[in-house]
Amino acid sequence: MGCGTSKVLPEPPKDVQLDLVKKVEPFSGTKNDVYKHFITEVDSVGPFKAGFPAASQYANTCSGAPTTGHTEPPRRARVAKYRAKFDPVTTKYDIKALIGRGSFSQVVRVEHRATQQPYAIKMIETKYREGREVCESELRVLRRVRHANIIQLVEVFETQERVYMVMELATGGELFDRFIAKGSFTERYATRVLQMVLDGVRYLHALGITHRDLKPENLLYYHTGTDSKIIITDFGLASARKKGDDCLMKTICGTPEYIAPEVLVCKPYTNSVDTWALGVIAYILLSGTMPFEDDNHARLYRQILRGKYSYLGEVSLFCPHPRDVGEAVW
Ligand code: ADP
Ligand code: MG
Repeated sequence: MGCGTSKVLPEPPKDVQLDLVKKVEPFSGTKNDVYKHFITEVDSVGPFKAGFPAASQYANTCSGAPTTGHTEPPRRARVAKYRAKFDPVTTKYDIKALIGRGSFSQVVRVEHRATQQPYAIKMIETKYREGREVCESELRVLRRVRHANIIQLVEVFETQERVYMVMELATGGELFDRFIAKGSFTERYATRVLQMVLDGVRYLHALGITHRDLKPENLLYYHTGTDSKIIITDFGLASARKKGDDCLMKTICGTPEYIAPEVLVCKPYTNSVDTWALGVIAYILLSGTMPFEDDNHARLYRQILRGKYSYLGEVSLFCPHPRDVGEAVW
């Protein structure tokens, strides 16, 4: 069932057409703005600089505030709402900024109060079936994995309606954003990126795990330097098989532009759907364009099924400029 996200979520009802799946709305904050989401607000309140003020404090401040005619709730009210959602973890972690948002999840940058160590916490709403499924998939995988190119789970908090996954923090941003900022990568650099992703994917596949949502938004830079490693995140659609299990999967899921043809035709498929997505990512990194793109999903899926794409990459990508050879990696 599509849920207004970029993802096709697991187990769609039989009568749902694939082309009803809606495209994800990317996070709307500007790229430089994401870390400011909470910080400015917290700072502006004064006595609570070290973290969020209690939700009730904001509730008091906001009650009776003059309406501005804007449909969006006042910023303070929004912060209060987020703060309340993260209440169960704020004793141990100081919430610093909102860094990601999906249909059922919010990801915040936090600091461990005792050690000052930074982490990311992904909070997933589990009161809806889709949220529960995404959360279960993610935890099933994250509890099993330990690899340099895969995000590391630190601990998990659970309430009746939400699950909080404390993870190592990747501070370098999404591959997607770095790529957009650069416009294109050299073949040499693209190869390096793909090699790191392949290392992680090979490890996952060896464990019987298929990611099923590989895309540049789910590949994070560990730090801001040009030599940063890449980390695979977001296991909400992953499938984890036990040894000896049938390795064929049937669930129709993924992000439309990256879905493999065998998934679209509802055939049982293998972990090679990740390899397809890696091919799409390789194409994007080298050409700066999408191999399959159409706002109309029916047309997009037809392109994918036909394998109809053309490569219009710049020749210079394959013959790197002298300045790109040697030390420079871009
Ligand atoms: P969703 O299922 O909502 O896409 P993700 O796990 O992909 O959830 O997280 C959404 C975004 O939050 C990511 O694209 C990334 O920008 C940010 N994010 C997630 N986990 C981390 C992390 N451990 N460190 C830094 N940023 C993260
Ligand atoms: Mg994601």
